[in-house]
Amino acid sequence: MGRTQRACVFCDETPLTREHVIPQWLRDVPSIAHDLSVEARGERRSHYIYSFEREPTSRVPSSTVEERGQFVAPRDLLVRVVCERCNTGWMSRREVGVQPLLTALIEGSSLTVLADGLVRLAAWTAKTAMMFEYNHPPTAGFSAAQHRDLVRRERPPRSTDVYLARFDGPPEVWPLHRGGPIGLLPPTGGSAQVIGRCQLTTLVLGEVALLVRSVTPAELAPVLFQKLGVPAPSWLRIWPSPPPRLQWPLTSNVVDEQDIYRVGPSSW
Ligand SMILES: [Zn+2]
Repeated sequence: MGRTQRACVFCDETPLTREHVIPQWLRDVPSIAHDLSVEARGERRSHYIYSFEREPTSRVPSSTVEERGQFVAPRDLLVRVVCERCNTGWMSRREVGVQPLLTALIEGSSLTVLADGLVRLAAWTAKTAMMFEYNHPPTAGFSAAQHRDLVRRERPPRSTDVYLARFDGPPEVWPLHRGGPIGLLPPTGGSAQVIGRCQLTTLVLGEVALLVRSVTPAELAPVLFQKLGVPAPSWLRIWPSPPPRLQWPLTSNVVDEQDIYRVGPSSW
């Protein structure tokens, strides 16, 4: 971990407690239990850092992508950024609330998921991404305002969208976080000007793949999202405007390993 967090990212209280990015209850879900066992190794990269300094129309080569992969076993992803009251209070209640639905999705069980379940799942995904990015603070993209939004209501914060798909591959736990500053190159040349921050997190859990993207500041959200591009149609958007219902496992919204790597601007 880099920067040391002194107070809770959600409420500014102290002291801080240790939090597992991948919640411990997931160790009891059969199809992914092995990936969260003590023997499991970090075989996948969990973080990348990207700098966005290239306009899509620019002829400047996209050489500003900085890659620093970290190989960490998902079980060992720990952060110390929330206080005990948040950790054992609203955060814990929301884990309990999402547990039956998320377990069924991971296991590939047949079920109908209604909009309110999708919203809770989307909020959980945003929370997990918020924890995850503190494992590698240079990739952090969420703002203090977005943290507060999440505490206030069980739905994703402002300037955030969330997508769902079925993962086509062996069951595994694979969190991948990408983020950092977004810059614009002046048309006349010169160095890039940073105008905001973004993060993209994908999380594969057995049969389910989740994607959460966020940008800040909110007033520049349309421009910043435009730079991130539109996720491939195989990703089904569940926030904002969740579908009223969906049937799991999804049959047409399916992503594989390559799709996970492909999330993000085409210039990456
Ligand atoms: Zn707190």
